[in-house]
Amino acid sequence: MTIRDIMKYIESEYSVINDTPCEICGGDYIAKDSDIVVINGIPYDICDCICSECGHEKTFQFCAPFAEDTGTTSIKNMLN
Ligand SMILES: [Zn+2]
Repeated sequence: MTIRDIMKYIESEYSVINDTPCEICGGDYIAKDSDIVVINGIPYDICDCICSECGHEKTFQFCAPFAEDTGTTSIKNMLN
């Protein structure tokens, strides 16, 4: 899997976050922190988000198949 493919995954994750309104006030979530975890052998990208309007926190969980190939360190470096 290429960097371009990985960027597509990450972009789609951010578009999901951007398309999800805050369940409290309808505001926009912004990504605060992101981590790769492995659950039952499947890597997931866990993204902590916070509402830019009211501060409500929500955790988004995405399947992250690219993390297997590249390792978690390089992904974290890319996100930072
Ligand atoms: Zn809100």
